[in-house]
Amino acid sequence: MRLSERVHLVGSGWLGYSISDRHDSHVYLVDGGTASFLVDAGCGLDAEGIASRISGLDIPAVTHILVTHGHADHAAGAGELARLLGAKVCASPEVARMLAEADEEATGLATARSAGVYPPHLRLAPVQVHQQLGDETFEIGDVTVRSLPTPGHAAGHLCFIADFDGGVRAAFTGDLVFARGRVAVLGTPDTDIVELRDSIEAVAATAPAALFPGHGSIALTGAGKHLAVALDAFGLGALPPPLLP
Ligand SMILES: [Zn+2]
Repeated sequence: MRLSERVHLVGSGWLGYSISDRHDSHVYLVDGGTASFLVDAGCGLDAEGIASRISGLDIPAVTHILVTHGHADHAAGAGELARLLGAKVCASPEVARMLAEADEEATGLATARSAGVYPPHLRLAPVQVHQQLGDETFEIGDVTVRSLPTPGHAAGHLCFIADFDGGVRAAFTGDLVFARGRVAVLGTPDTDIVELRDSIEAVAATAPAALFPGHGSIALTGAGKHLAVALDAFGLGALPPPLLP
């Protein structure tokens, strides 16, 4: 599904548009002119479907898979997609460790699976992260990408701020913040409300125009107004509205 001139949605589950496995986060494909990249990878149960959808598009080869955080719906498919696409996986050092060790406790998979969020057969296989990212800026094709450490929802969470040649700035926010200022506070040991607020402020400070979150609606314009809903709630001493009511 083409979202904008440069951004396609190639995977999405029940908290989105049901393109791929129901448990998948949004999986974005960004066309960088001479190279393409993914933001997040889904849970891996439909990695082949996502890869075949990508192969049907007239876009440059996918060279990088940028992982926002270690939760299975975003990250568990990264290894298989990397193998199918010949791409390298990039994540924060914390998430690189979780994925390399297939740490189902730190990624929350063990708890979520026993709570019925994921099917019993969903397991985290070790994923090699080829490139560890901190707060830094790099180029993929003609897109300038900043990886921005944004803890609060999960340890080692990154947002990706993308600047397109002649285009608008886009924020890929994973599970940090969603359209209409929604948040996902899971209450896991790595949940931190103060960090969540500070991280949303840091994304807002980059003044993105488009907001591409990990689930739910997408904002092609006016991202700042969506982020302001969350920040206004924090300003009143309240939590922003939840993604899931
Ligand atoms: Zn998450």
